[in-house]
Amino acid sequence: MTGEHDNVTPAPADEGDIKGQVFNIQRYSIQDGPGIRTTVFLKGCPLRCAWCSNPESQNSKPEVAHRDSLCIRCGRCTDVCPQKAISTDENGIFIDRQLCKSCARCVDACPQGALKMYGVTMTAAEVFQQVRKDAEFYRGSGGGVTVSGGEPLFQPDFVAALFKLCRDNGIETCIETCGLAKTDALNKVLPYLSQVLFDIKLADSNDHLKWTQAPNEAIIRNLRTVAASGIPLIIRIPLIPGINDTEEELRKIAELVADNVKKPVKVNLLPYHKFGIGKYQMLDREYQLEELDTQTSEQLQEAKQLIESYGFECDIEG
Ligand code: SF4
Ligand code: SF4
Repeated sequence: MTGEHDNVTPAPADEGDIKGQVFNIQRYSIQDGPGIRTTVFLKGCPLRCAWCSNPESQNSKPEVAHRDSLCIRCGRCTDVCPQKAISTDENGIFIDRQLCKSCARCVDACPQGALKMYGVTMTAAEVFQQVRKDAEFYRGSGGGVTVSGGEPLFQPDFVAALFKLCRDNGIETCIETCGLAKTDALNKVLPYLSQVLFDIKLADSNDHLKWTQAPNEAIIRNLRTVAASGIPLIIRIPLIPGINDTEEELRKIAELVADNVKKPVKVNLLPYHKFGIGKYQMLDREYQLEELDTQTSEQLQEAKQLIESYGFECDIEG
């Protein structure tokens, strides 16, 4: 009988030992590339998009989150904290994030599950052991592993090591990238990629800076590099009401893609949602776009038709 660990090509010890900051591994995902996938979410992102639905991904270091409704004010978290960074009163749980060292002692001590640590250190080999559990599903569905975030190219050595293991063992690979990365980071990961999901948010660099805290010239340069590599590419546009989903803004984005990709490419539209708001509260951050509503199905169809009028195949995700 074949054992679970037979027929697996191990990574060289030094590559499999490369560590990354991971905040979630989601099995049986069908949103993040073709087929059934495992999506590995990494910490750390160079952008700060006002609409980000994964605020727990943005910082590269682990962070404690709190859910006040579960707290019974037992005080165990305060008792175990070596930094005196956490306290509670009738209004809720308070964490001094300047003092907190993310040691997770409060999370372990809490009897209610009111505290959660976003971010854990894992080696590429450890993540691969999780990913390979569903290899049979990937083969049957044309799926594989997707690394998302945060920004996968923020941890390029870790992602390259993980993908090398996957590719050596017949598992297809994909990144979902915001596109902002150093050239050498992109070049480290490109050789191991089967597919790229590349987000484009705004065509105008000043608008990009205003809404994501970074201009977009480097992103466009990396888009050209990925397109020229020949790796299958899907453009994803998160539609943000009044910010980039107007006819004028969508036309600018379509022209940007046409000018820089220079070949037929699939464009996926992501309707606006506010699923991440609760996590902003748990991390003591403010969500700026609470007033916005998601697009109607008519608006989504109009956006789709506009993108298709530029010769792109277009789908609405979700
Ligand atoms: S993670 Fe550690 S340092 Fe931070 S509040 Fe909890 S116990 Fe204190
Ligand atoms: S240990 Fe948990 S339940 Fe107790 S006070 Fe702290 S957060 Fe609340």
